[in-house]
Amino acid sequence: MSWIKAHAGCIGNEEAERLAKEAAETENFPETSLEFPKSFIKRFLRQKMLANWQMAWDDGNTGRLIHNIISKVSLQPINWTRNEVLFFTEHGHLPSFFQRFNLAETSFSSCGVIGTPIHYATACLLTTSYHMAAPSQQHQPVWFRSVANNSTSRRKMHNLLHFLQRETSPN
Ligand SMILES: [Zn+2]
Repeated sequence: MSWIKAHAGCIGNEEAERLAKEAAETENFPETSLEFPKSFIKRFLRQKMLANWQMAWDDGNTGRLIHNIISKVSLQPINWTRNEVLFFTEHGHLPSFFQRFNLAETSFSSCGVIGTPIHYATACLLTTSYHMAAPSQQHQPVWFRSVANNSTSRRKMHNLLHFLQRETSPN
């Protein structure tokens, strides 16, 4: 319930492999009379699959927080840690998360403000030792992206989530 590993890259890769194999083995593949090598067909289909995937990712309704950070699809796994997945998807041990799933009666942090990742990482009175510079309202997507790409920020976020997991677990 709390964490799904981001393995989309593997699925995409498997799909490209499957399509290439199918195309290479199908007799009525439209181009087979020209005898393209299997490697060409494979590359062609992989590019086509990536373009389709990119379109679906850009036009989708879900995963928009992650789309802000990783806007380009890729067959390379992103290798985020569990804590990074929790933070960037707002699925951490945060009141706003518990409230969304009716596990807590309030989405407010103990300091009286809605307990989002940005609140804890930049403003909350209970987490001052973990603070980073706050984003301006219109630059939140950029802020998440720069946190994701900065090792010092990622270390701070890791420590912050550890702290929050201890402090805000229900029961
Ligand atoms: Zn707070």
